[in-house]
Amino acid sequence: KKRIAVMTSGGDSPGMNGVVRAVVRMAIHMGCDAFAVYEGYEGLVRGGDYIKQMDGEDVRGWLSEGGTLIGTARCMAFYERPGRLTAAKNMVLHGIDALIICGGDGSLTGADRFRSEWPSLLEELVTNEELSQDQIEPFQHLNIVGIVGSIDNDLSGTDATIGCYSALSRICEMVDYIEATASSHSRAFVIEVMGRHCGWLALLAGVATGADFVFIPERPQDQDWRQAMSAVVHRHRKMGKRKTIVIVAEGARDRDGAKISPEEIRDLLADKSEGGLGLDTRITTLGHVQRGGTAVAYDRMLATLQGVEAVKAVLEATPETETCFIAITENKIVRKPLMRAVQETKKLAAAVEGKDFEKAMALRDTEFAD
Ligand code: ATP
Repeated sequence: KKRIAVMTSGGDSPGMNGVVRAVVRMAIHMGCDAFAVYEGYEGLVRGGDYIKQMDGEDVRGWLSEGGTLIGTARCMAFYERPGRLTAAKNMVLHGIDALIICGGDGSLTGADRFRSEWPSLLEELVTNEELSQDQIEPFQHLNIVGIVGSIDNDLSGTDATIGCYSALSRICEMVDYIEATASSHSRAFVIEVMGRHCGWLALLAGVATGADFVFIPERPQDQDWRQAMSAVVHRHRKMGKRKTIVIVAEGARDRDGAKISPEEIRDLLADKSEGGLGLDTRITTLGHVQRGGTAVAYDRMLATLQGVEAVKAVLEATPETETCFIAITENKIVRKPLMRAVQETKKLAAAVEGKDFEKAMALRDTEFAD
């Protein structure tokens, strides 16, 4: 009987509970035992009560719960081999031979590292006399499957990450609220949204709310962005628009790599000198409201279908199978090589960091084959 564990790791995102629910119920449906590892890799390293067997009933009602009920954490110990060694020991002691991890690219990198080291970790545990040869015998192959939970939609190789549409919906809802007051007072608002390397939330929020101007990290503005934005806002105001909405991603920058801050944009919109816009301008930083709250229907659907697919992937895996993650591509739930997605994602982040924006845009537009 296979014993499958599920965990959530890294930053939380709406829909993670749906993943846990789907994995637990599908695992039980397929005749396996289901476990939840609490507090991400921290729980795996600590073991004991952090690893808990789950019943179908334990996850009742979890689809409509925000955040992650089994907790998530950043775990320093798991970056180091001794931490991963303890984690391996805890898995064997709990009889767990498959792990489904829902998290961002960091969590998936850790997962891949864990699986590639698995045989040597077991060997070391026997050498250290922490486990016997008999104890490790049934655990020669560790199955790991990744599911991407992130509000940023920042992983290459999948059209959407679990949580991104919930965050986008939340942003739109907040912008709608702001618009009402902006129109009433004829004000301008600079709205900062999450996204350090990835402007998906800012860009799509701009499209979905009809914002006047959007700043994202991958497509930095030319040096004359000040004139460009002012010209657009001037034009819209001349057309009789009583509100101005500018959306800026946390990681927005100009071509020289200098951060474009909400304060700078505000000062420009509020500039009362000759030719300036002189608008009564406020900054709203949306912050963690983008993360919190319940998942929208799309994320619940994605969490459920991907959770089910992850269990199937575990059960169909052979020792030769490459570690996969579950993606959605052109509306189909598919398995793809996990490390490829992580590498492509890191390449994109490095291109943005290194100010190679042409490359970043090209990478953003490429969908790697499965
Ligand atoms: P988010 O997108 O919200 O940042 P993430 O999964 O990328 O989510 P990280 O903090 O990067 O978040 O990673 C979560 C945890 O995964 C880390 O605290 C660490 O325990 C583990 N981890 C990340 N990278 C590695 C790595 N290279 N080796 C081992 N473990 C790692």
